[in-house]
Amino acid sequence: MKKIIVSKKAKELLRKTIDEKWKLVRAKKITDRGRYNCHLCQGFRKGDCAGCPIFMKTGHKFCKKTPYAKWAKHQRRVHPKLYFNKIYCATCKKIATQEINFLEALYEECEVETK
Ligand SMILES: [Zn+2]
Repeated sequence: MKKIIVSKKAKELLRKTIDEKWKLVRAKKITDRGRYNCHLCQGFRKGDCAGCPIFMKTGHKFCKKTPYAKWAKHQRRVHPKLYFNKIYCATCKKIATQEINFLEALYEECEVETK
């Protein structure tokens, strides 16, 4: 499998995004507040996603072409009047699982750069 070379910080933030965000979202312990509670966005998004391993993998900004896009669309269409993105139904849970699987697979592809 092709490796994605990332900074140490990037790989750590990816781990945190899985363990301290998405697993808790799926467990209904927290809500998704988009970039405001994404460790990767907080670390990298200065309007252009530079350095974010998700962007490095997909080549698309703002998590386009990832399960997150599907999640956001589902939340908007099916649960539109509710302020927070979170688990409301079985489909929400299914997409949250896809997001976690996507991030875990990406984590495996990431190799920390050696200086
Ligand atoms: Zn739903």
